[in-house]
Amino acid sequence: MSHSTRYRGRFAPTPSGPLHFGSLVAALGSYLDARAARGQWLVRIEDIDPPRSPKGAASTILRQLETFGLEWDEAIMWQHDRHEAYQTALDRLEHLGLAYPCSCSRKQWQGFDVYPGWCREKVCDPTKPVAWRLRSDRGERPIRWHDRLFGDQQFDPAELGDVVLKRKDGLWAYQLAVVVDDAEQQITDVVRGLDLLDNTPWQRQLQRALQLPLPRYLHLPLIVTAEGQKLSKQNLAPALAEAQGSVRYQLFQALKALDQAPPNALAAEPTITQLDWAVEHWSLTQLRPTAHRLMPTSSPITTTGE
Ligand code: GLU
Repeated sequence: MSHSTRYRGRFAPTPSGPLHFGSLVAALGSYLDARAARGQWLVRIEDIDPPRSPKGAASTILRQLETFGLEWDEAIMWQHDRHEAYQTALDRLEHLGLAYPCSCSRKQWQGFDVYPGWCREKVCDPTKPVAWRLRSDRGERPIRWHDRLFGDQQFDPAELGDVVLKRKDGLWAYQLAVVVDDAEQQITDVVRGLDLLDNTPWQRQLQRALQLPLPRYLHLPLIVTAEGQKLSKQNLAPALAEAQGSVRYQLFQALKALDQAPPNALAAEPTITQLDWAVEHWSLTQLRPTAHRLMPTSSPITTTGE
């Protein structure tokens, strides 16, 4: 790779709670892909929604990453610091006729699959607070890109609707923030969970509108429970156990979830040994493009603290 296209990846957790096994797999996949390419790996804390970011969750996440040996490069980026950059991007979109204020409430359009764009030409009720939306009917249609695991993708942005960029309460929406920050951090490769595959078209649309570089994308299989549910805070996915034996076991299981076929003997090795092996053997061709992997049964070692 030439210097200008040097790989830069990132892990960008929302600090709504501690990392669980599913987030470990996403972090690990992103880390391994970056390190195998001799690239940089950054961490960005996506704390744009303070009510959904309990105090201490971000520091727990960072401690968990360190415990698993996932060391990042450069200073952490915090989205709570980035208001001005997001506002500049929104102003630019408005100037280009691609963003508009919208006073409609969800209730008003509940009979539709997506917001029908009533405020596009003129805000319906100027006395009400407004959200800001992206015009999905302008620009490239359909949106096409290649996912490194799931192959060629195609979406019609109009079917996805005019996504919110800034909420009525003044909080920034994920789609705008992620695009502005991936560009600011010069991310070349986005590696994350498959649940975000269908968010990618909005992000591509925004990158094109703002004339930002287009990163490559790799979406990873999601970890599900035996009942087929995605791990999340809502279904009380357990936080990663941080006792040393559990850490080794979970890291090994995460390598298996990424289809890297680690040798059994690796399971008892320290994280650094496991990670060294995994960077050296990282192989995307081994990773099967299927949507789900089962959550492993919990570690035989259940004690916390060493
Ligand atoms: N912050 C998002 C999440 O935790 C991930 C953003 C991304 O990787 O693009 O789900």
